[in-house]
Amino acid sequence: MKTLQSIQARTGAALGAPLLATTSQQVDAAATAAAHAFEGWAASTGEIRGNLLRGLASALEADRDGLVSLADEETGLGPVRLNGELDRTAFQLRRFADIAEKGLAFDRLDDPAVAGPPPGGHPAMVRQRVPLGPVAMFSASNFPFAFSVLGGDTASALAAGCPVVIKAHSGHLLLSNRVFGLVRAVLSAQKLPAGLIGFIQGGGTDVGVRLVQHPAMAAGAFTGSTRGGAALQAVANARPRPIPFYGELGSINPVVAMPALLAEKGPELATLMAGSISLGCGQFCTSPGVIVLIKDAASDAFVSYLTTALAAQSPHAMLTPGMRQAFEAGVAHMLAAGAKPLLHEAGKPEAPRPFLAEVDAPNFIAKAELREELFGPSSLIVRAASVREAIEVLSAVGGSLTVTLWGVDAPTADNQALVRAAMAIAGRVLFTGVPTGVAVTAAQQHGGPWPSSTQPMTTSVGDAAMERFLRPVALQDAPAWLLARNGRPC
Ligand code: NAP
Repeated sequence: MKTLQSIQARTGAALGAPLLATTSQQVDAAATAAAHAFEGWAASTGEIRGNLLRGLASALEADRDGLVSLADEETGLGPVRLNGELDRTAFQLRRFADIAEKGLAFDRLDDPAVAGPPPGGHPAMVRQRVPLGPVAMFSASNFPFAFSVLGGDTASALAAGCPVVIKAHSGHLLLSNRVFGLVRAVLSAQKLPAGLIGFIQGGGTDVGVRLVQHPAMAAGAFTGSTRGGAALQAVANARPRPIPFYGELGSINPVVAMPALLAEKGPELATLMAGSISLGCGQFCTSPGVIVLIKDAASDAFVSYLTTALAAQSPHAMLTPGMRQAFEAGVAHMLAAGAKPLLHEAGKPEAPRPFLAEVDAPNFIAKAELREELFGPSSLIVRAASVREAIEVLSAVGGSLTVTLWGVDAPTADNQALVRAAMAIAGRVLFTGVPTGVAVTAAQQHGGPWPSSTQPMTTSVGDAAMERFLRPVALQDAPAWLLARNGRPC
């Protein structure tokens, strides 16, 4: 039997006893159990769904100290960040409990019959939604709570009426198992089927691939690298019955800063930016990986302030030794592609130093290597000769979770063109602040054009995340008993 080993992020040492990888038979059993749980859960009331989500939130909070200390050992993210993330995760679960209880999954459009010949006349139609079915859910390394076992994908799928089978991330195996222990206890206390929330873990890609291939699975929800997401999306598409695959992937999150604002607030903005680049050791999908500046004395001064502010940061250890190596390899790759280093210092074996480099816009546009996500505390300054060239830089990026525009307050033609270019490639456009930090709220959009996500018309954060797991059905001349269910599937 294959075994898995948890690793201490800060030392690389083994943590705890080896765990058993899920076998192929166990993956199949989890998928089948989810399929069995589906019928009842799809027909469940908003109150039942809300109770489960609230129970899960309370269970997380009740085990806070143990969970946070384990998460800290496995990820090195530190108790302050991890407590905050646990709060956010409980908040998300309760927010989807509210959404379930309000019956938003049962929303319907009543289109009464109109007498007469078509196309004006038509039968009585009701448009409502049904949950897709069991969801294969892949946890991310860098959000051990909020995008993991009880993260937003699980919460929103359950609120929609879908069971989930969760693939634990190899970077926080013990934490995932501990959280899943809480899940089991809550399901049992609420007398819900154990198969409603399944759990698998594995070394290598086989376990996740088998889950996505299983005929019982109806959708995939993934948070992770563009490479991993693309591979699993291909698996989802290659099934005899392809399924939707919602992948939230990597992103380089350009920030375009106009010289007039930099002239006014350069030092303040440089400090803000340095904090965002090195936050969480740069291990955020919304980390500002590219800063586009228009050639100007204020931009030059900003680069110098930013270099100084970034040099003063001390990033903590990365999530895994593999990520640490990937960061150094990514830096070397960027330098080989022609980026000129501005801040490039040797780090300790476990903790990297921040990296800052610069390149001119034509080179950035010409070389795809410079547009790859470098996961870690780093950013690339891109020097553009004009706003027009800055817009070409954005187009070359193609897809991003966010674009930040600093200093576009006036409705000038240039600013309108920048806003258009930003909206063309990003799911979220910011006009102040930094892109790290994603509010869990009604209007949130976390997902942009490829390569930042596989389905840019959906979001994995915020209330609309539930929509991913619901499919419209039109009921034509439906019987009264079915209409009396008010949109709740039977
Ligand atoms: P990852 O290596 O892609 O892993 C994500 C999950 O997918 C893990 O469970 C992993 O299994 C599995 N996996 C990866 N490749 C696979 C394949 N080819 N076949 C089957 N399973 C596969 O990503 P990560 O290292 O956790 O996260 C870092 C990346 O996530 C960064 O690029 C970051 O920007 C992105 N991210 C995006 C968002 C967002 O919302 N867009 C949020 C957070 C992070 P193992 O654990 O067994 O390797």
